[in-house]
Order: sequence, then structure tokens, then C-alpha cells
Amino acid sequence: MPIRCEIVSQDRLVYEGEADIVLVPGVRGEMGILPNHAPLLSTLSLGILKVRYQNEERVFTVTGGVIEVQPDLVTILADAAESVEEINVMRAEEARKRAEEYLKAGPPKESDAYTAMEAALRRSTLRLEAVKRYRTKRPGAMVDTSSKETD
Ligand code: ATP
Repeated sequence: MPIRCEIVSQDRLVYEGEADIVLVPGVRGEMGILPNHAPLLSTLSLGILKVRYQNEERVFTVTGGVIEVQPDLVTILADAAESVEEINVMRAEEARKRAEEYLKAGPPKESDAYTAMEAALRRSTLRLEAVKRYRTKRPGAMVDTSSKETD
């Protein structure tokens, strides 16, 4: 029996589906949630979340949040979450550039703005790294008239 997985961010339902295992970025490292897991409520760090089901793996970036586990349901309430396939690379690059330039200008380190820009840099870097490492070439992403359609 699989476990149901729901990923909800502040502004939308990011994913819902079945899972054989959900791997989440816990505060003490990666945590694997299997079906029939004991009830759990815990904090999530910024990092990579993976949903594996029947030889398929979906990869998401999460910027932090909360995970609630019941034996048949894992709910992720994320500050922000997106699948690697839907990350807008240009937007993340611009966010990273903005943050790097701000931090390079040497603002006071104790300021709220400094802390916020450091966090923005971590988010954008995570998104860009995730795309590099996990984004797959989907069928149809490239036009190749010489090959036969396989899907
Ligand atoms: P930006 O400065 O580009 O707005 P951010 O890190 O401040 O980025 P967040 O506050 O983490 O953005 O997220 C706000 C919403 O935008 C969330 O729904 C998040 O999933 C989405 N989002 C942020 N960056 C991207 C991106 N590069 N591609 C797709 N969705 C994104």
C-alpha cells in the first residue's frame, strides 16, 4: 500500500499523488517517509524533496516549512515549493544576481535586509542547482524530426 503525498505551498497545491517513499529535507538531514510511518510533525529545511512511486521519481525544491505524517498521508506545508520541471531558470538567475549584487555592496550584516538577501540567495541557488542536477529532457522538449515518436 502506498502512502498519499500532498505538497501545499503558501499559494497553491503543488502536488498530490501516491508514493512508495517520500524523501524530505529534515533539519537533521534527509528523512525517508514510508507508508505506515508513525505520526510525526516536524520542521523542514530548505532543500530537495523526492516522491518515488513505481520506478518514477519526481523532484521538488522546498524552501522550508512543516511536514505532517499520518500512516496513510504525508502533508508538506511549504513556504514555497516547485517541481524541478516548472522552475523558471531566468527568474532564478535574476534573483541570484540581485542577491549577489546586494550582498557584494557590503550592507550591514546585522540588518534585516542582509538576512533576507542571504535567504534569497539560498533559494535561488537551490533552484538553479536542482535544475542542473535533476531536470530531465522531456519528450517534446526538443524538436527532433529525425526520430520516431516513442511516447
Ligand atoms: P523571486 O525573487 O524571483 O520572487 P523568491 O525566492 O523571492 O523569488 P519565493 O518567495 O521563494 O520567491 O516564492 C514565491 C512564489 O514564487 C512561490 O510560489 C514559488 O514557488 C515561486 N517561485 C519562486 N521562484 C521561482 C522560479 N524561479 N520558478 C518558478 N517558481 C518560482
